[in-house]
Amino acid sequence: MIKKFLTVIFIFFLTMMQSAFSQDMFKITSVNLDTSNSIVLLTSSISQVPQEIKSIKINTLEDPKRYYFDIPSTILTTGAQNWFFNSQDIKQIKINQFNPTTVRVVLYTSENFNKSNISVLKRDKSFILQLKDEICENDYFEPIYTDEKISSGKYYENLSISNAEIDKIKAAQNVINKDTISQVQDAFSTTASTSQTENIVKDLKLKTNYYISSVFIKNESVLLSGFGNATIEKPMRLTNPTRIVYDLPNSITNYNIRNKTYTANGTLIKVAQFDSSRSRLVITPAMEDVDYTPVFSPDGQSILFVKTGAANKLFNQKNNATGYYTKNKNEFIISFDAPVVHSVKRENEELKLTFYNTYSFNENQFNKTIAKTVFQDTKPTLLDKVGLALTVPITKNAVVKTYMGADGKAVKIVLANMTATPKQTVIPTKKDHKEKVKKVKGKTVVIIDAGHGGSDYGAIRDGVNEKDINLDVARMINDILSNAGVTTVLTRDSDEFISLADRVDISARNNADLFVSVHVNASVKPEINGLETHYYNDNSLEFANVVHASLINTVNKKDRGVFKSKFYVINHNTMPAILVEIGFISNSSERAELTTQARKQKTAKAIADGILQYLNEK
Ligand code: ZN
Repeated sequence: MIKKFLTVIFIFFLTMMQSAFSQDMFKITSVNLDTSNSIVLLTSSISQVPQEIKSIKINTLEDPKRYYFDIPSTILTTGAQNWFFNSQDIKQIKINQFNPTTVRVVLYTSENFNKSNISVLKRDKSFILQLKDEICENDYFEPIYTDEKISSGKYYENLSISNAEIDKIKAAQNVINKDTISQVQDAFSTTASTSQTENIVKDLKLKTNYYISSVFIKNESVLLSGFGNATIEKPMRLTNPTRIVYDLPNSITNYNIRNKTYTANGTLIKVAQFDSSRSRLVITPAMEDVDYTPVFSPDGQSILFVKTGAANKLFNQKNNATGYYTKNKNEFIISFDAPVVHSVKRENEELKLTFYNTYSFNENQFNKTIAKTVFQDTKPTLLDKVGLALTVPITKNAVVKTYMGADGKAVKIVLANMTATPKQTVIPTKKDHKEKVKKVKGKTVVIIDAGHGGSDYGAIRDGVNEKDINLDVARMINDILSNAGVTTVLTRDSDEFISLADRVDISARNNADLFVSVHVNASVKPEINGLETHYYNDNSLEFANVVHASLINTVNKKDRGVFKSKFYVINHNTMPAILVEIGFISNSSERAELTTQARKQKTAKAIADGILQYLNEK
């Protein structure tokens, strides 16, 4: 089924959260603990760390052994934080408003923990407290995207709160004054009073999570904003009606926006608190083929879910990709000279990252770095008015995790479970076309175009995607024609999105002689089934007739006829160009057949035979 693409252009300021505050004080609006990296992040969503705050001096106290440092001219808006750990070296971290203008951070450690293992860095809007525990080997990355379901516990895998300490907190519970409870805990304050204390205790360790404070909708894109570090899991796509579900682990949604349904042009948007540590965004698009791409702000505090296919200008400071590193074969880091706005999209066999405000990169350096890693086939493309796009081929069962540097200037990609599975091989068909080819004079180029792909699924029924059938059949046609000695070009040989204009471009660039687009049809009437061939330009009619006759003879299904139709790819190509609808996905028995090798093979043979016959008769 052919679908028109509406291009919506809009300009979005991800920095809109940062309204102009004119106070002199530095306001810490979130305190994040990432124990897997042994980092504490003190971040402001409002202001930059002031120049006046020079180097931070770390002081030592004994009995018990502790280190502390003060941050002058600063207000802690999150309320006091007090964390206990059962790690070898770090026992407790306390952060509070020491006096009206000073925030104090105290670390209780083991006796032999050395001061040199503590460092405090200033980055843009954050203080980064980095602790060199024996467990700490990573740098300052925060999780952004994960393929796996993760529990909030995962954030604390190395420094977990001990039961004994939880008992201590429980005992101290009655002295917790509501004013000192952070804004995050306020999200729970309307729960029943008997369970409230329990909740607070249980969620004390969640003080450092992501707090979603607002939902904003523009042009069917959704902006979630808040405090802390946002992480999303692999989205789920549900049908009847189509819904796209994003879970945000380790997050809490403001009571005022929970469970409300927002609408924009028929698209429904809802944010819910799924459980005590997980928020859920559900987008119900107006049309079933729509998909979304999450775009992350450099401070990790906002995510913009952009309608895929729409052209976006995500305004931000320009940057250049300046650094490329690999830690091992499965981990790749790209760094920038300014904070980056980026998106992460995982498809079945492809990972797509786009760095929207990146204007240059060093291709040589890039390729050198990824050589001999699992990233070696990554294609970096600098797109005009878009930014730097990385397409990373991955295996189906690869597990993707991405991270962003605390300063927003680096992105880390980790690919686990990347075992090179051999590509599905299409059974070579009979060589009965060999002799025919000898008659084909000169170099004949045939473009085989598998309709849709990537985020564009085409028609979907009962979990069957048009794009997958199209690709299988296109590959089979390609094999038969290549075997017959015809030069062929597939517009796509994987599950990737290619625009209609690019498909036409590919045939122009290859100086093609013929163009065949493969699609599966769909109708609101489930009883409709059969085969159609479409053409538009008059020079394509004979080609359409020959291929259609071959289809009817070989596939032997209902003949719905040859149509003149103004589909983009057959309208814009100048050589003989046809679009074949090889059956109806909306008819249950034809759909079942279309998923079989037999029907696909028969269809591919019919189309390939038609092409060869046309070439020979020409
Ligand atoms: Zn289609």
